[in-house]
Amino acid sequence: MENYDKNCIFCKIANHEIKSNVIYEDDDVMAFLDISQVTYGHTLVICKKHYDNFLTCPKEIMNKMFNLAQRIGQVAIHDLHALGVNILTNCYEAAGQTVNHFHIHVIPRYKNKEGFEITMKENDQNLNLPAIAETLTNSLK
Ligand code: 5GP
Ligand code: ZN
Repeated sequence: MENYDKNCIFCKIANHEIKSNVIYEDDDVMAFLDISQVTYGHTLVICKKHYDNFLTCPKEIMNKMFNLAQRIGQVAIHDLHALGVNILTNCYEAAGQTVNHFHIHVIPRYKNKEGFEITMKENDQNLNLPAIAETLTNSLK
């Protein structure tokens, strides 16, 4: 596989060597649920080929990734009933990047009793990830 980094966890996810809750994929891009759900439906959009981050990725692939991130954001509003969405991408360790394979976070935002803050209560690791993935997959069709 072209641009495959054998030490990269997202290359392994893109190649289906490591399981993830995939909500969309084609030849170039893939979206799957973040293993650590900051909020309900927190999704990562990746390129299938390995590029380190947004700053080093070819524009054509970057455009496909942001198109998909936009669709997932729309679905989060319409189908997960989020009130807002953060679209963000970290470039290099100094900016908080921990996985050096370009990914865009799509983070749906909801109101709770503390307001719009992301709280530990929202970060509930008992979430049913396959069920969330199924909802998003169907919404993206
Ligand atoms: P970064 O800090 O690099 O912007 O974000 C990396 C994200 O990847 C984190 O939110 C982390 O939870 C997520 N992540 C790391 N390893 C895995 C994994 O094996 N599976 C999934 N689904 N997400 C992962
Ligand atoms: Zn990679």
